[in-house]
Formats: sequence, C-alpha cells, structure tokens
Amino acid sequence: MDGTLRRLARLRKAELHQHLDGSIPPRKTWALMRRHGLAPVRTFAEMKKLLALQPSEERSLLAYLDKFHYPLWITQFYENIREVTAAIVVDASRRGVRLLELRYSPVIHTFAGMTLRQSIRSVLSGMNLARAHHPIDVGLVVIAMRQHGPHIAKILARQAIAEAEHLHKRSGVVGFDIAGAEQGHPPRLFAEAYRIAAAGGLGLTAHAGEAASSDYVWQSVDDLGVRRIGHACSAVSDPALLRRLARDGILVECCITSNYQTGAVQRGSQHPIFRFLEAGIPVAVCTDNSTVSDTDQIRENRYLLEALGPEEIADLHRRAAEHSFIRRRRQFPPAEKERPKDKKRIHRAVLGLFGMTLTAALLASSAGLAAAPAVPAAPAEQPSQPPPGPAPPSTGPSASPPSGQGPAPGGQPSPLRRLPPELRGRGLSPAMSEREVPASEEEAEAKLRELLPLLRAASDRHETYALRFTCDETFRTVPYDWQKNEATSENVKRFAYLLAFDQDRSRYNVIRQTLTKEGKPGGEETLQVPCPDAYAWTFLFSPRNQRVLHYRYLGREIKDYRLTHVVEFESSAPFVEGQDTREWSGTVWIEDRTFNFVRIEAIPSFQERRLTGQWRVYTESFNLPWGKARPRPRGYELTVEFNYSRDGMLFPTRVDVREFVWVARGREVTDRRFVQEYTDYRFFQTTTEETQKAPRASP
Ligand SMILES: [Zn+2]
Repeated sequence: MDGTLRRLARLRKAELHQHLDGSIPPRKTWALMRRHGLAPVRTFAEMKKLLALQPSEERSLLAYLDKFHYPLWITQFYENIREVTAAIVVDASRRGVRLLELRYSPVIHTFAGMTLRQSIRSVLSGMNLARAHHPIDVGLVVIAMRQHGPHIAKILARQAIAEAEHLHKRSGVVGFDIAGAEQGHPPRLFAEAYRIAAAGGLGLTAHAGEAASSDYVWQSVDDLGVRRIGHACSAVSDPALLRRLARDGILVECCITSNYQTGAVQRGSQHPIFRFLEAGIPVAVCTDNSTVSDTDQIRENRYLLEALGPEEIADLHRRAAEHSFIRRRRQFPPAEKERPKDKKRIHRAVLGLFGMTLTAALLASSAGLAAAPAVPAAPAEQPSQPPPGPAPPSTGPSASPPSGQGPAPGGQPSPLRRLPPELRGRGLSPAMSEREVPASEEEAEAKLRELLPLLRAASDRHETYALRFTCDETFRTVPYDWQKNEATSENVKRFAYLLAFDQDRSRYNVIRQTLTKEGKPGGEETLQVPCPDAYAWTFLFSPRNQRVLHYRYLGREIKDYRLTHVVEFESSAPFVEGQDTREWSGTVWIEDRTFNFVRIEAIPSFQERRLTGQWRVYTESFNLPWGKARPRPRGYELTVEFNYSRDGMLFPTRVDVREFVWVARGREVTDRRFVQEYTDYRFFQTTTEETQKAPRASP
C-alpha cells in the first residue's frame, strides 16, 4: 500500500477545483495571524480545529462554509494574499500537482479597501512568484458569490476578463464560476454574467447540484453554457442529464472528501464519481478545500484505488488536464492518440469495478440509463476526415435536441457495456455537438460561394500582419517506440520566429533565430519539417490557392468552443516534401462572423494511394541482411490550432504533425511527432484602426 501511495504522490496530477480561502496551509494562516496580532486562540492546535472541519460538524454546508471566516481576517491585504497563494501553489507542487486552477471570490477580499482589480492581481502575483521556482502551471478561476446577485456577477466577469491569461504574458484569470448558497439562487439568473465571461474568452464552470437538485445542473449546462460543473452530485439520479454530460463532454469536478463532509453524498454510499466514469462523463479528482477538508491530492486519489490502478488514475488526470482552462500548459504532455491496449485496460477496470460494487438496487435505479442506446463500436480505423454528419438537415443554429441521442428501444439492456466516449479516444479534440449539414448540394454550393470572398478578405488581413510580428516558437521532435507506441524522449528547440520577404518579393520566408537558455537570440537556423510553415495556412483561401484547391462546404458545428463553418479542401497537386499547403488535403474549421481559422486537420494529398504504391515498392524490393532495400511507406497527419487572438484575428498557436510508417498493409505505427508551439506574439507598427484600412504590406 505504501508503495502505491508513493506512486500516487509521484503521479502528475491536475487539480481543477480548489478554493484559495479554504486551502491556505494552517501553519501559514497561524503565522500571519500572529504576525498581525489577530490570533483568536493561543495555540496552533486550537487554531487548526477552527480551520478544519471536525467530525461533529459534518453534513451541513453551512458549518462547512463557516470555516472560511478566519482566513478572511488575513486575506484582506495584497501582500498577505500573495503570500498565502504562493504557499498553496508550493504545497500542491510538492504533492505532485502539475496543473493547478485555484478559485477565489475577489469581492470578499475588499473589506479593507482593496479594489477588485488589486484583489485579483494579488492572487496572480502569488501564483507567478511560486510558479517561477516550481514545475507547475497555474491559473485563477474568478468566483461570483450567488448571494451577491447577478449584477455583481456581471461586474466580476468584466474584471476577470481584464486579467485574463490570454491577454497577459504571465499567469492570469482562466475561468469564471458561481459558488455560495445554492438554494434560492438558480443558475439561470447568472446567464448574462456567463455570456460576458464567455465573450472574454474565459472557461466556464459552476458549482451546481451540490446542495440542490439536478435541475440546477441542467440550467448550468443549458443557460450558462458551462464546460465543467463543480460537484453535480444530484446528477446521478437523472439519467437524461448523465447522457447529456457525456454527450457534450462536460467534465465534473469531483470533490470526494468535501462531498461526504457537507452531506452532498451520504456516508456509506458510493461516491458519484464512479457513476460518472461509467456513464462516460469526464471527471477530475479535486480537493475543493484542502485545509477545511484536511485533505490533499494524494488522499483524494486514494479513494479511486478501490476501482482503478495507478495507471488508470494517471490517465484520468491526463484527460482532466485537457479540460483545464489554463491555455499555457507546459507540465502535461500533449494529448496522444489512444493506445488500443489502454482502452482495453480501462474498460476492464471500469467493468471490474461495477462487477464488484453494483447492487441490484443500483441497477434498478439506473434503468433509465440502461434504456440509452448502446454506444456503437468505435470504428477500427478512424478516418482522418470526419464524414458529414448523418443527422437530417436542420433549419436553425440550435436545432440539435437537448438530450442527445434520445431513447433507443432495443438498446443494450445493461449500462455496463458502455465504454466512456472519453476513453474511446477519437481525435485530438473533445467531441462536441453534432454537425448541422446543408439541406442540399445546391445549398452547400451557395454557402461556399458566399464564404469564399470573405475568406479571401480574411487571408488579406493576415497578409497585412505577416511582416509585423514576432513570436516565440518551441519546436519539439518526439521519437516514438514502435513496439510500445509511446514517446521515448523529446528534443526541444526554441526560436524567435518572424517572417520576411523573399529576394524577388513574391513570397514570404520564415526566419528562425535560435534562442539561448536566457532567451537571447543566437544564430539563424532552418528547420527540416515535412509540413508547411504555420502562418502559411492562413493563406489557404488566397487567390493563388483558390485556383488549385477544391473546396466543399460541409456544414456548421461547435469546434473548440466556437461556432464554426466546416470546409473541406482537396488538392490535386502531388505531395513532394509537404512544405506547400497545396500538397495537403483536409478540413478547416472557420469561425462564424470573423472568418478566422480555428483549426485545420490535414493529410498529404492522395495519401492512401501514395502509401499503397510505396508498399508495393517496399515489398518487391531486395532483401538485404538488415532488411528491405527500400524504406517502409511513410505518412503524415497534421493539425493546426489557432488560439491567439488579436485585433479580431486568430493566429496559429500550435502545429502537430504525426509521422507514421506502415508495418503491414494499412497498419501503421507512429514514428515521430513534430510539435511547434507559438507563444508571446509581439506586434510592431499595428494598431486596431490601421488594421481596418491598411493597404497590404507593400513590397
Ligand atoms: Zn467548491
């Protein structure tokens, strides 16, 4: 057991739900109280009792909330908040937390005269302080207290946006939340605040279903548009809601110890986290309040050991990290394609768990869930281009039914066969709502005709910007182990990235200057990569490309939390070295209204045909002592993400190229990956006005 605990301690963990006020290490609170002459008791032992929930105080949310009084005495001052924040981050880091979202209500820290802005910045300052010396990514979720009402919530949402992570170089606000007494404060009242937060690019979560019915969880999903829910304990009694959370990939932040203490979950009954896992809902294991609940990430994960092994727990954290609102994540490796053996292992674990613990009563209560359609077996080979949705054409943008697939008579009688969609591992991004496809070929063509000039204009805007920025580029080469199909090491290089004209001024060239460890530019360097330059993709619809590529309008869908048009592009040019966008075919997701690219997924043109041809050459080539004379067929898969927004435009932030080889006809293993990340964009000679009417960057 001790060995297992040590493993849990070492495991990279993602903490997505931890309150600042309830998590200050007691020694730190005690030291600050003594320093300022505020200590209400004489000894540290007595103080600890006031800060942590005692067994006699269990099963009441009010007694639980009462534990937050004493920390508030010291957290009304900038320096103190900075100090306690740093202490929490360091504490979490020592327990193996590599990604930490702290949450905090700025309003209740302004009683001594701090402004809301100072209140928020004091936390960020503490985060930056700790982050500089510890391997941890941190971000702040701003909480609006329900009892303060919807109007204060709106003010807080605006304040939160001003300090958003994506607007600043260092740690920032990453999300928005409501908390506090649930009953009598229905989530729908806060819809306007959430709309503001979403428009400002913040991640959305809400405390719901902790002390209220599942109706509040529904409201959070439908009216607030949250991507995550805190607690959601009451959702277990609502099969339709479970299906909805699973379908939309809405993560539940589970706080096991806290839920037993507040009475949200009865002692002796199984924690809902297992039902969520079984229903295919993404979950995170969270502490809520490490001091009040006298817990930490290691102890919380111990609860899972009865059903999951350390490997599965590690996987759970990796998946939770993908749902983090923190955008600049360094400590968790990028999402990787599902390994088939992993899927089997997790499936077995989930089945084993429910074989052990499901009682007849539980089965009866989940009859509604059992009526859900059985999840079709995942196709053996996922095509890299998603086929157009099978859904019938719909008329409005919100035409998808609220409860997903709906009842299916004759579905599997047992919910146990359902493998959680998050474990089925399809692409690199979470499954979202279905695609709304055009009613007819004619409608699709009309839509494309309407889009093309707008996309051409968007391409022009990017051209205006092409010579006016520089950014940091991190280039990772990650070799894979063929047998294990996992990364073995990585080689990281950092560059200052900028664009310049060619000598004849007909096209752009990329200039990469190596950066030293201290961030100083070194010499120029060229990269040998089998893909186009990241910025080149922004010209996908330039007139030059419109002549060569064939486009097809596939419909609209939500992608990376944005409403997008989906357009397929197909090249008739052969794949040579892959450096020209016209050597690729794929799918691009284009944001509605702004016509910015959100994401591109592509493969070399005629890849299948090329691999088949190479396979023939390979098998027919001479046998040499060490193998075949010709190399095995080699293919590529590419994704580009656009996540940095400036002046209404989105700039590329990440390119991920997977290189694979055919080991048998049609069967492939990953050989290498190339990941390019673009951060810290710095612009020169551009202002918002200039963008509106600037001529093209003149040669
Ligand atoms: Zn909470």
